[in-house]
Formats: sequence, structure tokens, C-alpha cells
Amino acid sequence: MKIAVIGAGIVGMTTAYELALDGHSVSVFERNASVAEEASYACAGHLGGSLFHPLSFPTWPSASRLRTSLAPSGISMGRGITLRDLRWRHAWKSPGKDFNERFDGAQTLAAYSLQRLRTIAVQASLVFERSQGQLVLFKTESEQLAQRERLELLNQRGAVGKILNPAETRVLEPALDANLDFHSSVYFAQDEVGNCRQFAHLLKEKIVESGGALHFGTQVTALSGATSPEIQTQNKGTLSFDRVVICAGAIGVKLNVPEFKHVALARVSSTSVSAQIREPLNAPRSAVLDWHTQTSVSRMGARIRISGGATLGQKHSRTTERTQKQLFQTLQSHFPGAADFSRSMQIWEGASIFSPDALPLVGASVSPGVWLNLAHGHNGWSMACGAARLIADQISGKSTDIDATKLRPGRFKP
Ligand SMILES: Cc1cc2nc3c(=O)[nH]c(=O)nc-3n(C[C@H](O)[C@H](O)[C@H](O)COP(=O)(O)OP(=O)(O)OC[C@H]3O[C@@H](n4cnc5c(N)ncnc54)[C@H](O)[C@@H]3O)c2cc1C
Repeated sequence: MKIAVIGAGIVGMTTAYELALDGHSVSVFERNASVAEEASYACAGHLGGSLFHPLSFPTWPSASRLRTSLAPSGISMGRGITLRDLRWRHAWKSPGKDFNERFDGAQTLAAYSLQRLRTIAVQASLVFERSQGQLVLFKTESEQLAQRERLELLNQRGAVGKILNPAETRVLEPALDANLDFHSSVYFAQDEVGNCRQFAHLLKEKIVESGGALHFGTQVTALSGATSPEIQTQNKGTLSFDRVVICAGAIGVKLNVPEFKHVALARVSSTSVSAQIREPLNAPRSAVLDWHTQTSVSRMGARIRISGGATLGQKHSRTTERTQKQLFQTLQSHFPGAADFSRSMQIWEGASIFSPDALPLVGASVSPGVWLNLAHGHNGWSMACGAARLIADQISGKSTDIDATKLRPGRFKP
């Protein structure tokens, strides 16, 4: 089939790769000049099924409904807040009866995705910056106990998290500052850290090798077509395809897709700071997430990346001074001397799109020939390879490796 993919972030590139692998004729349309220039540009790199980042999934409902809804979500209010954002925030903070099923759906997709990423990396001989394992640090016992339920469920699902005391933690991450005071940690040996942007660039080469076309600097302005889809572009006119897959991240929600009317999709921005490692012995071996400050420090090849902060709002909000201060403070307290800020340092803010039930929209739209693969929230890198394989199998009419019904784009229609 002749298939258009809108968006060349990590979701668009993995989707185009899988479709090309299945023998389709793929054309990618991207408004920027290259791949992974938006949310996929400098993400923290966490990959895998633990979904332990505070933004990966809403508050665990062990507390009463009232306590849960009063609890801070770690998401601050930015500029251009709409009624839809408030509806999203309310839904995000309300656990709902199907909380465990939804968590199960997200965890299954992320675990499947990591498996798929490993297969692609071997099949396509992709060499990219990656490291094994993720640690989550708890400052106090109560912080760790509050996560007991989540850990039990993860352990049942095979995403085993091992609780470690500080001495055991330091064996895994010997560069953690000796003066850092923390109660315990949980270690996910099967999770990984990987360079999302680098992976997207490597896929670009494979897509081109298999005959796929990439159209950069080409914004898709509208979708149309009564029986088969047509896309209107800013500089290439109107083009017809057998299928169109929208992987257009936070900006893509402006496209005229019927499903978007029924769902409050939110734009949440986070920040990362990347710098060269000054002394490898002072840097993390893989990723360390500080639960208390919700900040992660990860190794990205010869660089270190600190990321955190979460701001809700449709308008671009410049990284707050508070977030930046928090990122530098966490690096200083956890891995002092690891980064060399005198050479090139990059401060970057990216916006991801979040659905109210924390699951992405993956599957067919009611518009003929139009498919969606978006709204992966803070798990876009973790879920991209799995979601891409699911959509490729669905488009080819094959059965999928995991159940994709919870991800149906039409699930929000009243
Ligand atoms: C600081 C930070 C840290 C993160 N850490 C992690 C992490 O550790 N693990 C994890 O799994 N996830 C993480 N995330 C989330 C993850 O980065 C995103 O979920 C993921 O990058 C989304 O990918 P995407 O391809 O859907 O969107 P994007 O990367 O935003 O790509 C969408 C693309 O579509 C293009 N586009 C949009 N509209 C149009 C149009 N009309 N025409 C043409 N092109 C269009 C855009 O230009 C863009 O390039 C993090 C995010 C941030 C900001």
C-alpha cells in the first residue's frame, strides 16, 4: 500500500520503519528540517516496562479518592490553559475503577516495545548510545512504602524491581555522592536507557535504504478524502494515499480528526540539560531517578542528561528558573563533578501530548484510511517500537502480538 506518515519524531520514524519492513511504499512528512526535532529531541532516555517515572502514569490510588485528588501531581500550570486542559488534569488525577487494567495496558505495551526495540536493533544492526538498568532513589521510608502496591503489580507482571539499601545501591552506582542521604532504592535490571534521537536518525537511513521517501520542511495542513485519504501540504499540494498514519505529537492535534473532539489531550512540557561528562568515574553508569525531586540523571554516551519539570499549557512556556535550578541542584547533590559545563551545554524544553487515561491512541480513526499513533505522554520513547509494530500489523490485517483494544482511538466517544 501507499502510506503517508505525518511526523518524523520517534513515533513517526518507528511507524515508517515497520511499514517499510512490511513492504509498503512509505512517505514521511515533517514540518521541521530533520527527524526528532520536537519532543523526541533530548528525552531522558528511560526505556522499559517499569513505568516508574512520576509522569509515566497517574497517582497510584492507594490513598482515598479525596487525598488522591488533593495530592500534588508534580505538574504545574503554565501559559494558555484551556478548559480541556483542566478536564484532562481532573481525569489524570482521578484513578477511576479501571486503574489497574489501564496500568496493565501501558506496562504490557512498554515491555513489548522494549522487546521490539531490541529485535530491531539486532535485525537492522543499529548501534546507539544505551545502557542497562534503572535505579529509583527514595529519600524516606514512607516514599518507598507508598510505592509498594505498584511494585507488587510490576513484580507480578515480570518487571521485577529489587529493593536495595544504600550500600547495595552504591555498588550499582558507585559515583553517587558519599554524602547523599537516602533511605533506599528500587532497581529495574531489565530496563534500559537509550538515545532516542540517535535511534530515530538511524531508522531514517534504513527507511531511505528500503525506498521510503522523507519530505522535510513539509507541513500537512489538512486531511480530506471521502473514500481514501488525501493530505494537503503547504508546499507540495494535495496528495492521495491508501492510508495515512498521524504520528504528529503535540502539534498534530490541530489536524481535523473526528476522534480529537471527544478527548481532552494535554500538552505537558518538561526540560532536560545535557553536558559532556568531565570525569566518567563521577557519572552514573545508567539512569538514576530521584523520586523526591522527580528528576532523572542519565548517561547518554559521553554526555550526562538531567531532566525533570512538568508544565501544563497549550502555549510554549519557557523553562522556569525553578525547574532549571532543580536540575542543577540534583546533579550537584547526586553526581558532583560529573559534568563539564564549561564546554557545550544544552538546555532544552519539549512538549509531549498526554491522553486522560495515560494510554496512547493507536489504531484506526473513523475517517476512511486514517490511522492514529500519538499521545504517548511521558512514555513515547518507551512505547514507540511496540506501538509502531501494532499499527503496522493492524494495517496489514494481521493479528497483533499483544491486545490493542485498550488503545483504540475511538474509546473516548460518549
Ligand atoms: C524532557 C523530556 C524527557 C522525556 N523523557 C522520556 C523518557 O525518559 N522515556 C520516554 O519514554 N519518554 C520520555 N519523554 C517523552 C517522549 O520524548 C515523547 O513521548 C516522544 O518523544 C513523543 O514522540 P512523537 O514522535 O509522538 O512526538 P514528536 O517527537 O513531537 O514528533 C512529532 C513530529 O510531528 C511533526 N508534525 C506535527 N504536526 C505536523 C504537521 N501538521 N505536518 C508535518 N509534521 C508535523 C512535528 O514537527 C514533530 O517532529 C520525555 C519528554 C521530554 C520533553
